Amino acid sequence: MDLLLEVRNLETWYGPIAAMQGVNLQVEKGQMVAVLGANGAGKTTLLNTLAGVIDPFKGQVLFNDQAIHGLDADKVCRHGLVLVPEARQIYPFLSVRENLNMGAYTRRDPSGVSKDLERVFQWFPRLKEREQQHAGLLSGGEQQMLAIGRAYMAQPKLLMLDEPSLGLSPLLTKEIFNIISRIRQETGTSVLVVEQNAAIALAHADFGYIMELGRIVAADTCEALSQKSDVKEAYLGGHVAQGLSGTSQRWKRRKTWR
Ligand code: ATP
Repeated sequence: MDLLLEVRNLETWYGPIAAMQGVNLQVEKGQMVAVLGANGAGKTTLLNTLAGVIDPFKGQVLFNDQAIHGLDADKVCRHGLVLVPEARQIYPFLSVRENLNMGAYTRRDPSGVSKDLERVFQWFPRLKEREQQHAGLLSGGEQQMLAIGRAYMAQPKLLMLDEPSLGLSPLLTKEIFNIISRIRQETGTSVLVVEQNAAIALAHADFGYIMELGRIVAADTCEALSQKSDVKEAYLGGHVAQGLSGTSQRWKRRKTWR
């Protein structure tokens, strides 16, 4: 097993609130890993902690065997963990091309920028068509494409995506996930994606974790997770708010795993 990311016993608090506790997670080189969970499960907190946006209270994050927990976000990005945030956070008054160039800001060597830019335009021809337009004029789906393209311009070893399906139609969600898989296949970039849309995430990823109330409650191959009756019931049947434990509201009533 060729590990890229190893998360050990990670814990993050917002003031007096523990948003995430005891999280252990691994991503192998070239692998796509999904973290599934309902609203408020702690998925964004996990990605923001890995990306250096929030400091963990406890635990370790090893990337290529180097400890990166507690580093500032720009340093984490230079190590190759690049986040596509939930709100996309594009620059609305810059053009599409300028937004993509902003992604290359953390590079030490600018020599490959134009080649990578061409690659992004191949994956997302719609961005090429709108290259000179203000990014704020793009549709939601196009902004998601731009956010992914901009992250690629930072030369990720691990592309971390926070709910790429948010606000998108089923058709666009499918298109976005197909391109994420294509980026992974063509470049060998590993992917860590957090999603509420369990069906699409399980269909594309190799390995999955389920998060409830700040903790990982299940971990298995996506194939195995998709076949578990309790996962089907809680996450694939349109009852996401129920969660695997039958409640998203309380820690104590956690169920026994089948
Ligand atoms: P969503 O899909 O709604 O974004 P999530 O799984 O990403 O959900 P988080 O956003 O990580 O969950 O939130 C985890 C918990 O931490 C929630 O209970 C949330 O209310 C709380 N939380 C998140 N951000 C803050 C904050 N800035 N201050 C205080 N509590 C927060």
